[in-house]
Amino acid sequence: NNFEDYYLKRELLMGIFEKGFEKPSPIQEEAIPVALAGRDILARAKNGTGKTASFLIPSLEKTDTSKACIQVLVLVPTRELALQTSQVCKELGKHMNVQVMVSTGGTSLKDDIVRFSYTVHILVATPGRVLDLTNKGVCDLSHCNTVILDEADKLLSPEFQPLVEQILVHLPKERQILLFSATFPVTVKDFKDRFMRKAYEINL
Ligand code: AMP
Repeated sequence: NNFEDYYLKRELLMGIFEKGFEKPSPIQEEAIPVALAGRDILARAKNGTGKTASFLIPSLEKTDTSKACIQVLVLVPTRELALQTSQVCKELGKHMNVQVMVSTGGTSLKDDIVRFSYTVHILVATPGRVLDLTNKGVCDLSHCNTVILDEADKLLSPEFQPLVEQILVHLPKERQILLFSATFPVTVKDFKDRFMRKAYEINL
């Protein structure tokens, strides 16, 4: 397979090639077409497999940059991972005019509020901060029809799980969930049963 096979926007394909990606990795080969078709995905994948691009490429493809609203929410357990993921997203989307924002705990809430007054298309965030800003009416997730749970085993730990579920309440009923986890504890299976629809399962 080749990245050209997915009929991606030219600007996105340029970003992919400029990052030095020549061919999709195995997880990308499985996940990209399924995600583009709109299906939920439950993927068991470790770091180093190319999983980040496997959810960012379809997310960027589906983002309509002419609309000034959050269309993709990437939930991650740590600020460090949020920064890394948003960096990859900005690089892949370099030619797209896409606005990517990071919002996590451990930073100024006031600064985040100011930054939400500008256009955000893709939000990479930790659960506590995004829930806080959504409850305050600062962050509007009502048009966000794609949500990614990266390192879902951690996101569905007792600390975060209730927050993740409350965030989902603010999203449209018709939404696509892409879940990535290195391990599949009961909490992940339970989440799948309660929130995901006919999830396509990837095991690498
Ligand atoms: P990840 O599993 O998302 O942390 O990615 C692991 C590493 O693989 C990162 O350094 C990526 O830049 C790189 N990578 C991801 N996809 C590809 C690809 N299709 N071709 C070459 N390198 C890639």
